[in-house]
Amino acid sequence: MDCLFCKIISGEIPSKKVYEDDSVYAFYDIAPMAPVHVLIVPKQHIASVNEVTAENSAVISHIYEVAAKLAKELGIADDGYRVVTNCGANAGQTVFHLHFHLLGGTKLKTEMC
Ligand code: 5GP
Ligand code: ZN
Repeated sequence: MDCLFCKIISGEIPSKKVYEDDSVYAFYDIAPMAPVHVLIVPKQHIASVNEVTAENSAVISHIYEVAAKLAKELGIADDGYRVVTNCGANAGQTVFHLHFHLLGGTKLKTEMC
């Protein structure tokens, strides 16, 4: 499958890895929008939130466990941070492999749209 994040997970395209286990991979965003900007992705190819089902949704709760762990390790847990996933054109999704942005290290803008 011609998917950028599948290639990052397999190592075909290099990335700055932050965390990896059997089902999840996390790496620094190439164009950070905040002092801490990590992408957390399921290893299984799921295109977006639109593709989440009863069969594959367990990895989503695991991703939030990883987000909590990484926020502590990266020193942003106490001051606060944001976990964001964009779905589809109106949200500006550019990579169609489900990913969660972990953003922190500064006061984040509050606009939702
Ligand atoms: P989206 O806009 O789909 O929510 O987020 C995609 C994110 O992937 C963007 O923040 C973008 O900077 C990041 N990104 C795109 N290509 C690469 C890449 O090759 N390596 C890394 N580490 N991040 C990437
Ligand atoms: Zn993929």
